[in-house]
Amino acid sequence: MCSLFPDNAARAASVDTAVVERKTVEVKTEGRILVHMCCGPCSIYPIKAMLPRMAVWGYFHNPNIHPYAEFRKRVEAAKTLAGYLSIDIICDEEYRPLPFIRALKSSIPPDASGTRPRHPPKDARCAFCYRTRLEETARAAKEMGFDCFSTSMLYSRYQYHKMIKEIGVDLAERYGILFYYEDFRDGWQEGIDRSKEMGLYRQRYCGCIYSRIERYSGKKPNKGNSLQKKAD
Ligand code: SF4
Repeated sequence: MCSLFPDNAARAASVDTAVVERKTVEVKTEGRILVHMCCGPCSIYPIKAMLPRMAVWGYFHNPNIHPYAEFRKRVEAAKTLAGYLSIDIICDEEYRPLPFIRALKSSIPPDASGTRPRHPPKDARCAFCYRTRLEETARAAKEMGFDCFSTSMLYSRYQYHKMIKEIGVDLAERYGILFYYEDFRDGWQEGIDRSKEMGLYRQRYCGCIYSRIERYSGKKPNKGNSLQKKAD
């Protein structure tokens, strides 16, 4: 399933139906796409699917990832994958978790007593996180003259897929550039298998400090979210 969102009308139709066979996608074969890479393993399947149809550039911009050692591993995995696939990649290698965490926390509305939660609810923090990374991708794609942008997060069964799509569509409108949408979750196992064959670093948690705490402390994500497969 895939679709592009060139204008409001198309957007509305696509959001409602979002079922277009891959072969009908209106991407010119000479088109250039900037693909946000959340990590190496998640990027394999989406990029391989796009490569026959578009000139793909990878874009690593993930200020959510913490701590530094983990950040470096994911940068290197993205570069390694780009080498395997012979694509160009642009990496934002500056590690700056504090501005990200501060901005994330201030994006969460305070409760009735005016207090913000110490551990932000997962759905709210992921919404901020998706938008932050996708907005930078949309902005960069527009500035560098790409035809469209997309994200490897559309591959993950552990992300809020519908939310990612809606944010991508919204940003496409705001930046005047196409958002390439496809439900890549069907390639879940293939992505895992290929990443193991390539020996790519495979992370154990999503990326931010909160997801790391949840992963290693057994803490459940705050209400309003879940880590269930195929989360929408
Ligand atoms: S769980 Fe993942 S998507 Fe959500 S805020 Fe943390 S790093 Fe971002």
